[in-house]
Amino acid sequence: MSINTVHTALSSVTSCQPDLGTSMDIVTDVAMDLVEDQEVEPGVGLAVLHRVILDCARLDREINMFSDIVEQLTSEVGQQPPEAQFSLSERVKQQFEERKASLSEAELLKHPKVVAFQESVHIPLPQDEAAESLQEEVDEDIAVMQSQVNFTCPLTQVNMENPVRNRVCNHHYDEAAILSMVKARHKQQRKCRCPVVGCVNQDVTQAHLVPDHLLRRRIQKLGSNKV
Ligand SMILES: [Zn+2]
Repeated sequence: MSINTVHTALSSVTSCQPDLGTSMDIVTDVAMDLVEDQEVEPGVGLAVLHRVILDCARLDREINMFSDIVEQLTSEVGQQPPEAQFSLSERVKQQFEERKASLSEAELLKHPKVVAFQESVHIPLPQDEAAESLQEEVDEDIAVMQSQVNFTCPLTQVNMENPVRNRVCNHHYDEAAILSMVKARHKQQRKCRCPVVGCVNQDVTQAHLVPDHLLRRRIQKLGSNKV
């Protein structure tokens, strides 16, 4: 097999990565539907979806690893005697197995799509064995979330269009409103306090704000029900 053939084959492998990314977005979407649907207990279903998204993340990472190894070894082989080509596939296989084995679950949890999944359903997701014992906790989290989260932005006093959650104090605001407030304060060289009455968070920054897709969907649904 020539090096060119290797590169062609490799690009057909890496070309499926965008589709993989799309699939992961779909899994997150399904998870949000699950959380939204109050009739169903989401815990177990979410644990399954979490497993699926972790498997996708693993596949994505493995494709990257494989591609790196092939790129590296094929570039090295150019400077080596021709016999080196014969052992190429064996060396790729060996290095791939080694790196695959070193890929930890903790690393998969850092995959941007996995992070997005967790942010979207905002649930500390259970690991395999712990799934059942955590289910009650998950349900409680959702109950707490529903009782605490208001659809109204503390700044605009109307329903939020693009709700963002503050990672630090867990308060929600409409994105445009909070960002303009943060910018205005920073322009005056001051810190921006959380505008929620009684909140002790004295320093809201853009980096602390994460889009809350689930809440946005809830608000949108509420809006469409009224019509
Ligand atoms: Zn706050």
